[in-house]
Amino acid sequence: MAPEPSLTSEEMSLALIRIAARQREPDAALSCPRCGWEGLFVIDRSQRPESDVYVLSCSGCGLDASLEVPAADP
Ligand SMILES: [Zn+2]
Repeated sequence: MAPEPSLTSEEMSLALIRIAARQREPDAALSCPRCGWEGLFVIDRSQRPESDVYVLSCSGCGLDASLEVPAADP
């Protein structure tokens, strides 16, 4: 069965929590928001000051999705 290409809203909020945790602790392993495998690969593709774009890739479940995070107001 092919994995869903995009994140559900639940997976998206989990991913946001984990990305925020990684910013505090860059060496921490990230677990996949879909299958929980601790080896989630995150590529930071941020190009604009307005938002951050992360590509999430998991070899456990085949997740490969991008996640756009609007920059928070200071
Ligand atoms: Zn996974």
